[in-house]
Amino acid sequence: ELSSAVLPTPTAQSEALFARARAVTPGGVNSPVRAFRSVGGTPRFIASAQGAYLTDADGTRYLDYIGSWGPMILGHNLPAVREAVADALQFGTSFGAPGEREVLLAEQVTRLTGVDRVRFVSSGTEATMSALRLARGATGRRFILKFRGNYHGHADGLLVEAGSGLMTNEGHLGAAAPSSAGVPEEYARLTLVSEYNDPQALDALMAERGHELAAVIFEPVVGNAGVLVPTPEFLAALHRVREHGTLLIADEVMTGFRLSLRGATGLLGLQPDLICWGKIIGGGLPVGAYGGRADVMDFVSPQGPVYQAGTLSGNPLAMAAGLATLTALENTPDLYARLDAYTAQLASGLKAAAQAAGVPISVNRVGSMLTAFHQDVPDGTVRTYTDAARSDTAAFARWFQGMLARGVYWAPSQFESIFVSGAHGDAELNATLEAAQAAYRDLGG
Ligand code: PLP
Repeated sequence: ELSSAVLPTPTAQSEALFARARAVTPGGVNSPVRAFRSVGGTPRFIASAQGAYLTDADGTRYLDYIGSWGPMILGHNLPAVREAVADALQFGTSFGAPGEREVLLAEQVTRLTGVDRVRFVSSGTEATMSALRLARGATGRRFILKFRGNYHGHADGLLVEAGSGLMTNEGHLGAAAPSSAGVPEEYARLTLVSEYNDPQALDALMAERGHELAAVIFEPVVGNAGVLVPTPEFLAALHRVREHGTLLIADEVMTGFRLSLRGATGLLGLQPDLICWGKIIGGGLPVGAYGGRADVMDFVSPQGPVYQAGTLSGNPLAMAAGLATLTALENTPDLYARLDAYTAQLASGLKAAAQAAGVPISVNRVGSMLTAFHQDVPDGTVRTYTDAARSDTAAFARWFQGMLARGVYWAPSQFESIFVSGAHGDAELNATLEAAQAAYRDLGG
């Protein structure tokens, strides 16, 4: 019988860096999921990234399925982005005054997405936080509604039954609101929570509390409970929230410019009042944005009474990276079809490999976002946070380590999407499926 044993990957340099990092940074990382807590083992400290690959401090090359958690839709270190940033760099790194690149990127974003106005900030968290303040300011209402397992960044009022890293935060799985220490219950009380993909629950909540709700915020395709795909009935219920004078906010931080040039809202035919962006819109530099109709956006200061500001907002290097990325996306017309084809083959290859090894998985996918949940779902689809939370996280962790040992860097949590890039081609697909077959066999055997 063929042995699927793999040699241990060298991690001495990463281990040394992790030890130093733990001495000076909480948990040794600047964002929790990077610490590998839910999968175990040494987090790899990355030295460089190119195309579909990461190289760590020990010199090992990994096929990357994180893409910096979404921004690298065209692969790492894209020449066009590097050159645009280098070009901008010659003229200074920050002005604290307006510049042309902010106008160019705003013109591009409004043209591509159909919003009238856009405001740039420096992260996805700032985008959703600001959009909610705007919704409250524009409606004069206090309450907001989010969905269980949807993650909208770490602003206080949004760390309520949030997904992503919080789903694997020990002791917090399925916990009631709030889902972080340090969030006063008074804040959490202003955030109502409903189940994703449950149109009846949403309709019932809206009937009772709609008149008090400034906004309903949602991920149009969820990435942060693992991938969850909205049902047409749920999308229809989302549209109905506007009958209550409640603003509909699509959080496209993950899906914007990833699922199509018009994001998930374009793909699904949704018409939200406000849209939030991050990740791809900054091409790997720190950028977020929120936008919408002029009559809503003009509540933002200095035009209107809702305050929102930022020392580095519209930063010229960040705008240059965003412009280069969106322009490259526009100039690669077959990109979304290629991403879709690759990820569809990845999904069917994973299912076949798992089945052959007797490992139960359920794969959710939209375009280049995919999660393989380690569980058998009776009707074949994981639809809600509650469904997702039933996954066998221990089995996922063993599979993740099997993939990493074979040079494939998957998202280090069961409750995350992976992200395929334009730099992933046939060679990468074959290498991934070969590794996956062996990693599932390790589990099954
Ligand atoms: N909203 C969604 C849907 C996200 O996926 C994320 C981050 O993963 C955020 C908001 C927060 O963005 P950031 O990490 O840039 O603050």
